[in-house]
Amino acid sequence: MLKSIAIMTSGGDSPGMNAAARAVARTALYEGVKVWGITDGYHGLLEENLRELQSRDVGDIIQRGGTFLGTARCKRWQTPEGRRLGHENLIKRGIEGLCVIGGDGSLRGAQLLSEEYGFPIVGLPGTIDNDVWGMDYTIGCDTAANTIIDAINKLRDTASAHRRVIVLEVMGRGSGWLALVSGISGGAEYIIVPEEEFDLEQLTQDLSRAYEHGKRYILIVVAEGAASGQEVCDYIASHTDIETRVSVLGHIQRGGSPTVIDRVRASQLGEQAALALISGLSGVVFGYSKGHVVSVNLYDAVNNKKKLDPDYLHLAKVLF
Ligand code: ADP
Repeated sequence: MLKSIAIMTSGGDSPGMNAAARAVARTALYEGVKVWGITDGYHGLLEENLRELQSRDVGDIIQRGGTFLGTARCKRWQTPEGRRLGHENLIKRGIEGLCVIGGDGSLRGAQLLSEEYGFPIVGLPGTIDNDVWGMDYTIGCDTAANTIIDAINKLRDTASAHRRVIVLEVMGRGSGWLALVSGISGGAEYIIVPEEEFDLEQLTQDLSRAYEHGKRYILIVVAEGAASGQEVCDYIASHTDIETRVSVLGHIQRGGSPTVIDRVRASQLGEQAALALISGLSGVVFGYSKGHVVSVNLYDAVNNKKKLDPDYLHLAKVLF
């Protein structure tokens, strides 16, 4: 059984990272294990920015977005020299295992540390993009989708008032999950995702016909990984007489108080991650799939590309 572990958050922040880190810390402390918090991800580890955490240090954070540990992107971690120093900084404090909360990049960095040094690692998927292979949920995706729905509801009011086409660009990096789920639940007429071919000429013809048949407004949700909202807007504006506007939601999608789903699941995943790490398990990521906590091999999680649920893709077409 491990006696001392560390936690970090890394890469893009997501609502629920705090709930996850809190659960890891409190579970470990409950089990009598020492917990270190690393500030600013891999960067903080290289800069030796670590402190021991007590239960009170993770109080009053479950309701907050962002991450109380801070997060960062760190180029040096991508070099063998960076990871060697990081390993050294863990070992010299007697830290025997590390829990990394982050997106696929952060998990890839963690996998390398585990592979190169045999260092015990457990990952938690902290990303709004919901793009980690082997699971259908990542911490923060529910809050982000709800933030987008709120924007869609507001954009509908103004689109309808002016008979406009509104193009909403949402985040997701290479994944269309956020666009697809928020588009379905927000009732968007078109959803453009990187996983599927799209034809702007066809789309423009379809929406012109819809206006001729009395449609008052159209909402198009575009995943940033598929196209820029501005490009889609400019194309429609230059090929039709319909007033078209673009809205780019940006970093608002990253923030905000996490939803119940994100808080509860992050807490469950954090507990499982801590228990697994303490008991000597390594090289796994805990996620949520089909209503249950699942553990996925870390190597597989970072070396496979997650696909969009074909049922959701079909549903989006049926509901248009
Ligand atoms: P996210 O974790 O949200 O996907 P990034 O892709 O920016 O965000 O990754 C966060 C950090 O993880 C990077 O700054 C880097 O330190 C580490 N990382 C990402 N990819 C790799 C890689 N291929 N090898 C080693 N470390 C990586």
